Amino acid sequence: MADGSAVADVVVVGAGVAGLACARDLAAAGLGVAVLEAGDGVGGRMRTDRLDGFTVDRGFQVVNPAYPQLRRRLPAAFLAPRPFLPGVLVHTGDRRVLLADPRRRPDTVRSLLSGRLAGPRDLAALAALGARDALAPAGALKRSPERTTRAALAGAGFSEPFVEGFFRPFLSGVFLEDALDTSSRVFHLVWRSMLRGALCLPAFGVQAVPRALAAALPEGTVRLGTPVARLAGRGVVTADGTELSARAVVVATGADAAARLLPGLDVPAHRTVTTYYHVAARSPLGRPVLLVDSGRRVLNTCVLSDVAPEYAPRGSALVATSVLGGDTAPVRAAVGTALSELYGTDTGAWDLLVARTVEAALPAMPPPWRLTRPCRIGPGRYVCGDHRGTGSVQGALASGARAAREVLADLGGR
Ligand SMILES: Cc1cc2nc3c(=O)[nH]c(=O)nc-3n(C[C@H](O)[C@H](O)[C@H](O)COP(=O)(O)OP(=O)(O)OC[C@H]3O[C@@H](n4cnc5c(N)ncnc54)[C@H](O)[C@@H]3O)c2cc1C
Repeated sequence: MADGSAVADVVVVGAGVAGLACARDLAAAGLGVAVLEAGDGVGGRMRTDRLDGFTVDRGFQVVNPAYPQLRRRLPAAFLAPRPFLPGVLVHTGDRRVLLADPRRRPDTVRSLLSGRLAGPRDLAALAALGARDALAPAGALKRSPERTTRAALAGAGFSEPFVEGFFRPFLSGVFLEDALDTSSRVFHLVWRSMLRGALCLPAFGVQAVPRALAAALPEGTVRLGTPVARLAGRGVVTADGTELSARAVVVATGADAAARLLPGLDVPAHRTVTTYYHVAARSPLGRPVLLVDSGRRVLNTCVLSDVAPEYAPRGSALVATSVLGGDTAPVRAAVGTALSELYGTDTGAWDLLVARTVEAALPAMPPPWRLTRPCRIGPGRYVCGDHRGTGSVQGALASGARAAREVLADLGGR
């Protein structure tokens, strides 16, 4: 673009965690970077709102401070992480059973057996899976034979009732699909990170992650409310028609927006999720734990304020419950019924604070799934984001880091 005003060495389109990580690595190498973000805040799918004194993430999600990219980029204390209890509470129809890694919590084994959730064969398979995935180098898991998660679980010796009663309901909340057809390599990597770390909520919401990444950028790098309409020459044209030129452009949007900006880009299907946020006068559980419904009426539910008391004003509790797909009146009603059974309490007096639907929450990751895709897609053009790696905070950050490496290999640092 000959007549566009040169804005920076590199324009990054999108201030999600992938774009912010990319921008940070480029700036650290001495390049001038401008991050153009369509929205009114940084974070993309990691945004947090304050509503009536409650902290409401745009869709329930957790942060694992053990993600290598997070450890590398942010001191854990910065996030003020509030950990969940290790393991998950599984509602089996007539009771709730705590399922934890038997190596970490041998005390839970008896209740699992008496709760009829798992048999001895399942517990042995769980311990073997845990030992293998926790200890294996990530590279070995990335090269392991690839199949669906369902096939991998059967191959690991789990009984069908245990897969249906635990893995399917639990993993549907992780991968936002309930057929267990996500790539087994993605499953093993996610399982490994759960075994090696702890699921947490940042005390002030998940947007703490992108905010911290943005704070590490030179002042003025991120321009909010600046949607990019198209790419042109070596630069971009923003929605108001302004042309900005740069030596390279990195498209760090979600998959659909990336395909619009880069026609012909191969993008995956996506998964949609809705989270209902209910306010109760007091916690129906009193434990910082994720509750999974083996009946699969909801993906999962938890009392956020049991995990991070900062999420709710004193004297109230905030409950997050997620379901696959969009928000409809029948789904709302079914969620209300399921919640009273799951928590064993009358939820009639609970107020629905807000429902948050995220259309493209995660990329679908069926096998064969390429865990790392090249970012360079043409001269001066690069793409990154979770759809180019794994659908996770770690995957998005790693993809942003990869894009920065490829840009630097082409342009050189200063
Ligand atoms: C409800 C939910 C639950 C999740 N749970 C977990 C979890 O528990 N653990 C986990 O690890 N991951 C989880 N994830 C996934 C994780 O949040 C994402 O993988 C990650 O945030 C994706 O980051 P990204 O930078 O690739 O994309 P995005 O966050 O989508 O960022 C893209 C940015 O580009 C901007 N943009 C788009 N078009 C334009 C344009 N034309 N011009 C300028 N800007 C543009 C967007 O506004 C956005 O800010 C969850 C996601 C959701 C939604």
